[in-house]
Amino acid sequence: MAKVLCVLYPDPVTGYPPQYARDSIPKLTEYPGGMSLPTPSTIDFTPGELLGCVSGELGLRKFLESQGHEFIVTSDKDGADSEFDRHLPTADIVISQPFWPAYLSADRIAKAPNLKLAITAGIGSDHVDLDAAIARGITVAEETYSNSISVSEHAVMQILALVRNYLPAHEWVVNGGWNIADSVERSYDLEGMDCGVIAAGRIGLAVLRRLKPFGVKLHYFERRRLAPEIEEELGLMYHSDVESMLEMIDVLSIHAPLQPETYHLFDDAMIGKMRRGSYIVNTARAEIMERDAVVRALRSGQLAGYAGDVWYPQPPAVDHPWRTMPHEGMTPHMSGSSLSAQARYAAGTREILEDWFAGTPIREEYLIVDGGKLAGAGAVAYTTGGASSPGSSGS
Ligand code: NDP
Repeated sequence: MAKVLCVLYPDPVTGYPPQYARDSIPKLTEYPGGMSLPTPSTIDFTPGELLGCVSGELGLRKFLESQGHEFIVTSDKDGADSEFDRHLPTADIVISQPFWPAYLSADRIAKAPNLKLAITAGIGSDHVDLDAAIARGITVAEETYSNSISVSEHAVMQILALVRNYLPAHEWVVNGGWNIADSVERSYDLEGMDCGVIAAGRIGLAVLRRLKPFGVKLHYFERRRLAPEIEEELGLMYHSDVESMLEMIDVLSIHAPLQPETYHLFDDAMIGKMRRGSYIVNTARAEIMERDAVVRALRSGQLAGYAGDVWYPQPPAVDHPWRTMPHEGMTPHMSGSSLSAQARYAAGTREILEDWFAGTPIREEYLIVDGGKLAGAGAVAYTTGGASSPGSSGS
């Protein structure tokens, strides 16, 4: 029997919700491109429930305990005295979400001799030291596509919020004002602007598709160029290097994984290559940015706005400068944890666990590390050699 240690974000401050804003969520049939949705044998939750917090338990308790497994759920994940650290030495399986990551550093992995499987409920396993996982033969898996569209919607929302100056205008209303001039002095139309994405993978391409109807000119930088039909359909301009794209765009949305190549890619010099008054939305990983360079660029006016939902570390300190820098539209790391997304990645987590306990292969699409090497989706999306060393990178 296995000990499953699950780290989830805390419940709402008002307690676990007795009811929800909506009675149901739409039923999808497949992911874009035809990949199938998670296929667990059954689920023990109602899609649309809050599953990603401690009381939600990813809907896994009945399933795990009915098979005799021990299931520990906690949000207490940081510091040597945390509940996570207390249980880690005897855990066989660790589950955590990128929104509230249990950083599985090399040190922690060394203290977990039984650990065989690390599941990311969601997408993005850079909170796990993949090199250490490879060395120890630990399998790492995540639920590819489960929240890609969720994130793309959030990115487009934040682009519009920044360009149109939505958040400051909303604040005027909440504070009893009717300050049109104050609200519009930084408000523009997106229409006609040049918008670019870094990485046109699942999320980046979905962002491009969603921006198209706004009448913008679309650009992208990718290591591998998209098919000509897609470029034509969306009217995309391809850039073989980031710099050439930055000179031509007003809005940038970042969707590349955190890797040695993207770590601190955006420093003063790189942001300085952009047009004055550009906007950046980053829903990929915080450490693609040099933290204080973002603050300086907003203060100087080089950037007109910065938004996103990824921070380092997570949760960030109360005095993290991104909380108070000017012209920001930050949210906590929530884009990929909508109630809709939770239903998919909770089902995907169960699918992975069912396969694991049955000894059947986990879908290639879900695998990041397996058999002592990068595998499946991970072999495409990740690199080793310091690719993900929580504590020095990863968010
Ligand atoms: P995909 O794997 O579908 O796409 C990633 C793309 O990035 C691929 O096309 C890949 O190209 C490209 N890429 C890889 N390395 C680089 C590089 N060094 N420079 C430029 N492009 C590169 O991933 P997703 O679109 O699903 O997710 C992207 C990222 O978004 C994740 O890595 C994760 O960090 C973040 N994310 C954030 C979430 C949130 O809640 N905010 C939720 C989910 C993901 P190639 O094919 O050549 O490898």
